[in-house]
Amino acid sequence: MAEMYDLVVIGAGPGGYVAAIRAAQLGLKVACIEKRSRLGGTCLNIGCIPSKALLDSSYWYALARQQALASHGVRLSGVSLDLPGLLARKERIVHELTQGIAYLFKKYGVTSYHGSARLVGGHQVEVQLVESERLILEGRYILLATGSVAVELPFLPFDGQGVVSSTEALDFSKVPQHLLVIGAGYIGLELGSVWQRLGAEVTVLEALPRLLPQADGEVAAEVHKQLSRQGLRFHLQMRVTRMRRQGDMIIVTAQGPDGTERDFMADRILVAVGRKPCVEGLGLEQVGLRLDPISGRLPVDGGYRTAVPHIFAIGDLIAGPMLAHKASAEGVVVAERLAGMQPRLNYAAIPSVIYIHPEVASVGATEEQLQQQKIRYRVGRFPFLANGRAKALGESGGWVKVLADEATDRLLGVHIVGPQASELIAECATLMEFHASAEDVARCIHPHPSLSEALAEAARMAWCGKPLHL
Ligand code: NAD
Repeated sequence: MAEMYDLVVIGAGPGGYVAAIRAAQLGLKVACIEKRSRLGGTCLNIGCIPSKALLDSSYWYALARQQALASHGVRLSGVSLDLPGLLARKERIVHELTQGIAYLFKKYGVTSYHGSARLVGGHQVEVQLVESERLILEGRYILLATGSVAVELPFLPFDGQGVVSSTEALDFSKVPQHLLVIGAGYIGLELGSVWQRLGAEVTVLEALPRLLPQADGEVAAEVHKQLSRQGLRFHLQMRVTRMRRQGDMIIVTAQGPDGTERDFMADRILVAVGRKPCVEGLGLEQVGLRLDPISGRLPVDGGYRTAVPHIFAIGDLIAGPMLAHKASAEGVVVAERLAGMQPRLNYAAIPSVIYIHPEVASVGATEEQLQQQKIRYRVGRFPFLANGRAKALGESGGWVKVLADEATDRLLGVHIVGPQASELIAECATLMEFHASAEDVARCIHPHPSLSEALAEAARMAWCGKPLHL
């Protein structure tokens, strides 16, 4: 006899667990199946959270080692790295947060199953429990939220030791001598920064002529400059073609745009060339579903319904940026729609953050996108160099750039490279959601002294061409 639920959620990442909690809050009987031993998915276990823990710890270590606090009158001596301690702290944070989800599931009455789920047809989901028992759950609705896995390069397969994905690069037991990073995207730059700060020589190979292909071009150029200054080495337009081993070292051959080849030797290689939907063993074909052959994602309609009307999908499985907060927002929408509400998401206002130093955060269109769409816009820029709070922090590198519609003054995009950009961007996402104009932002009263004044100044420049403090 199958266990009956209103909603069976497959995957307990930020998409699935949030959908499960919201649906349970709204009175649905919910089950959530997760194959990992801990809830929270990639984000909490091997993604956003552990990488941020490492980024923060490595930032403080680099700051201390470089005597960067000397200008504040703080001199440090005897600075050394306790790598096991640093990794243990990361592990504690992951443990506490994943336990927190288990607590929330209990609190809201979500039934949690630890095992692998497979669609078997109709409304049924087969669960192979970790303790080897099999059971069938039946859901009036089923939500697929299985996330994504790292893309492997065929000529550079992951071996968990020398050639690794982001998962293993969170746990190197010693600092690599030379870490070669393939791909100058989010993961390559974040984890490259971590190990460079901890003492590794880091070289990044990128196939395209610039870093961060999705980002605003000026942001990418600034990041290139700042990270190069910190000691990361970049080789652009370098496509990896093969590898060989020499003792403990790995030699990677990459080809430049003119066909010339160059060898790079490293003791560790991090392959960070993107992620793809995690659908292996999910039984999509069993219920007549398949990934779109061009995008590689699972097609859904505006309400996240797949071609099978009672099966929904969200997060990295479907179109859009592979971001935890995007998956969570979609999870909430699915749960609320099942409960009779009619929420919608605005995909033009999804913020994104790269947690390097200085932080990079964006929301809305890039200049390149506006030019492509032939939208006329005005640009307002303001450097943190002229911001009092940034000066006091000793963090005056970077700037805020506001893009506003030339005709209507409406905010079209905001790009920030600078201190606490991850926090500053939240205001910008809210402003875009409420269709603010650059003038609105300039006229909102921002606290003084604060980093947010740089946003108001950049907006003022986009609106009337004249910031007050430049
Ligand atoms: P990415 O898409 O951000 O970057 C991959 C990079 O690899 C691209 O620049 C691409 O041109 C390059 N590349 C592809 N093939 C190559 C090759 N053969 N040789 C050299 N370069 C090559 O992917 P990622 O960094 O792996 O991250 C995966 C996903 O995880 C992203 O979609 C991102 O949204 C998400 N993520 C987000 C955060 C965050 O929000 N802070 C952090 C980490 C990851």
